[in-house]
Parts: sequence; C-alpha cells; structure tokens
Amino acid sequence: MNPTPSTPQVITHVAELQRRVHAARQVGRVVGLVPTMGALHEGHLSLIDASTAECGLTVVTIFVNPTQFGPNEDFAAYPRDLQHDLSLLAGRGEVLVFAPDTATVYGARHATSIEVVGPALPLEGEFRPGHFRGVATVVLKLFLLVRPDRAYFGRKDYQQTLVVRRMTDDLHLPIHIEVCPTVREPDGLAMSSRNVYLSPEERQRALAISQSLLMAKHLIAGGTLDAATVTARMRERLTAADLKIDYVALADPDTLEGVATLDRPTVALIAARVGQTRLIDNERIV
Ligand code: AMP
Repeated sequence: MNPTPSTPQVITHVAELQRRVHAARQVGRVVGLVPTMGALHEGHLSLIDASTAECGLTVVTIFVNPTQFGPNEDFAAYPRDLQHDLSLLAGRGEVLVFAPDTATVYGARHATSIEVVGPALPLEGEFRPGHFRGVATVVLKLFLLVRPDRAYFGRKDYQQTLVVRRMTDDLHLPIHIEVCPTVREPDGLAMSSRNVYLSPEERQRALAISQSLLMAKHLIAGGTLDAATVTARMRERLTAADLKIDYVALADPDTLEGVATLDRPTVALIAARVGQTRLIDNERIV
C-alpha cells in the first residue's frame, strides 16, 4: 500500500477509514475533507494545503465518480494514476487517502440519489443533465462516510460550489464549506485534470478561455457595462481560437441568474470544447 514511508496511507475500506477518523477526533483533531477524482495537480494540492493548515487530519478522497459522467462523456478515459497522486502528497502533513472502489461507494442495489435544483439547473445543468445529481450524491456519501468538520472545494468549479453549499444548508449538515481560489498555469490556463488530453496546439488555443475572462474585466474597467456587448466580445475571442462554445454567461454570483448591466456583482462563466476536450473556467468580473 505504501510505496515509500513518506507517502500517505491509502485506505480503501470504510471501517478502517472510520476507525482512523474516530481516533483523530478522540485526540481533539479537526477533520478536513478534500474530495477529488485523482489525477492530482497544483489546484488539488492548494485545497489539501488549506486543509492541513486548518485541520489536524485531512482526508483526501480519490474516487472517479461514475454517476457524475454522462453516457457520452470521458468516465472510461479519465486519467487515473494513484501512485503518482501519492507521490504528490508525500510530506504534505497529516493526510489520509481514502480511495474506495465503486462497489464500496455504490452498492450493487444502490437506488438513492440527491435531487438538486436551484443553482444546479442552468449552465452545466443544461449541458450535462444529471451531472450535479451525481456530484451531490457522491459528496453527501463522502460527507457521511468521513463526517468532516470542514470540506474544501475549488472555485474553478464555481457552479459546483453553489450546489454543494445549497445542499449543505438545505440538509443542515454540520460541515463548514471552504472555497479556495482557482490555481492557474503561469500563462493563465486553469489547472484541470483534463488538460492532459490537450495536444500542444490545443493547449495553446485553450488559452482563449482565460484570456476572454481577462478581456471581460478590461472591458468593464474601460466602462463597457452592457453584458450583451461583453459576452459578444468574449464569444468572438473563443471562436477565433476555434473553440466550440457551450456557454458564455455573465451571472449573479449567488443565483447564476443572467446579469444585463455590469453594475453589480457578476461572475463570468465559460464552458467550451477544444477538440474533444471540454473545459470550464470562471472569474468574478465585478
Ligand atoms: P476534481 O478532481 O476535478 O473533481 O476536483 C476536485 C476538487 O479540486 C474540486 O473541488 C475542484 O474544484 C478543485 N479544483 C480542480 N481544479 C482546480 C484549480 N485549478 N484550482 C483550484 N481548485 C481546483
């Protein structure tokens, strides 16, 4: 299980996970949870560092959740490399890795899901029907398995943070949700496990996503407050790089309702395909 002494312990069974979490609680440790699908990068590591800074025990879950993928999506191809993930976690404080198999999380007769509406309906909800149902279901399962005090999510998946916060509030879960900033490559591309799919040429074209978010900020700073004008310019920039747009939205940060005039808090959200690879990104622009 443990290739070198400095890599964290990997737990696959629920009883062992709960024994370890219970032991940490007994000695008064705060328990942090960082749910991931593995293929770890600096974005994930920033969440783990935030958790280890605040919690005496951090549980990193590595589980590629089948229920959040659509039938024509990349579940089978999704990058999986547990040994590499563990090497990235070496020496990162009190970290425990929970890497269950699918049957542990979803029993053979699994028949219960979390239905989410509200912030789950627009944008990703339209383009990936059932995605947030799968996300909410697995996050709730992980919350109940680990019973953390705090759970860490990345702003990179902005809509997901709204869905998780809504569910946590609606179900009165005694868990503090922490949202951490998006970690980017030096040239601006948001880090994502899916970036490994990109050819060098696609990797270059993908920059149009973060650049159009930046452009939106510049346009607003220059006095352009009409959302339709800003959206049109962003779409032009993406299309010029031969990206296929799923959506470009300028929306209220809490409700994701469209904003018409950029004189109030606004988040810009993009989903676009570079070749076969679908990428999402967002930035607060007002
Ligand atoms: P994933 O493994 O893609 O399901 O992501 C696990 C967690 O890492 C989620 O909370 C993501 O929002 C977060 N995350 C992914 N990429 C980044 C990034 N570039 N910066 C910050 N957090 C991220």
